[in-house]
Amino acid sequence: MRFDVLTLFPEIIETAIEFSILKRAKEKRIIDIKAINPRDYSKDKHKKVDDTPYGGGAGMLLACQPYIDAYEAIEKLQSFRTIILSPQGKTYNQDMAKEFAKEEQIIIISGHYEGFDERITEITKAEEISVGDYVMTGGEYPSLCIIDSITRLLEGVLGAEESAQSDSHYDGLLEYPQYTKPREYRGLKVPDILLSGNHEKIKEWRRKEQFKITKLKRPDLYEKFKDTKLSEYDKKILKEIK
Ligand code: SAM
Repeated sequence: MRFDVLTLFPEIIETAIEFSILKRAKEKRIIDIKAINPRDYSKDKHKKVDDTPYGGGAGMLLACQPYIDAYEAIEKLQSFRTIILSPQGKTYNQDMAKEFAKEEQIIIISGHYEGFDERITEITKAEEISVGDYVMTGGEYPSLCIIDSITRLLEGVLGAEESAQSDSHYDGLLEYPQYTKPREYRGLKVPDILLSGNHEKIKEWRRKEQFKITKLKRPDLYEKFKDTKLSEYDKKILKEIK
């Protein structure tokens, strides 16, 4: 999978991918990440990339020319998607990560300052994506959220012991509670069932906990899951909980 990120601060991306699972995925050549600076494409003699907004107002807007020229210079693979990061976009979630993980290439246009000239979105036909209802200084950290969450879904990135399939949100529910050694810590004990060695019973307990925790912490997700995604096994589990 190729990621091309248009950013005024390529160093943020280049530094962050040198750690942990992203680094491993890069070394295994499962992902390739290029951070491209639109400033390198600016035709302005001072390499300017922004300007004041028409109609007045605070801040500087990212201008079309450097962004469009940088975008058009990116080699496009057969299946690619273009994302433009904006707090006004569709809120990113695990289902979107799964969809994006099917592509060969994700192009991310990351903003800064006051944001983009509107025509950049129009010309690139990019999907506007937000990482949540808050405003960040720039799209570099949102880019990394997207790159990281997609990468961990790609085959060969996580070992079997780190499988993404039991993670929260993978199938629409939150993950069950987990414990490691010691068996007791400050009077708090690991549930007996997890020490029983009975794998079928442990599986059942974990699924029940997933339902309970999701209903408690994220009733919105619970209702959505209950209405659309219940397997026969889940129906049986739910009946037992009730
Ligand atoms: N003036 C813009 C607005 O009110 O919609 C906000 C601009 S923000 C300070 C600068 C850049 O950071 C945005 O262009 C976007 O690329 C990125 N950004 C900020 N918050 C974001 C969010 N919640 N999700 C995705 N990108 C975000």
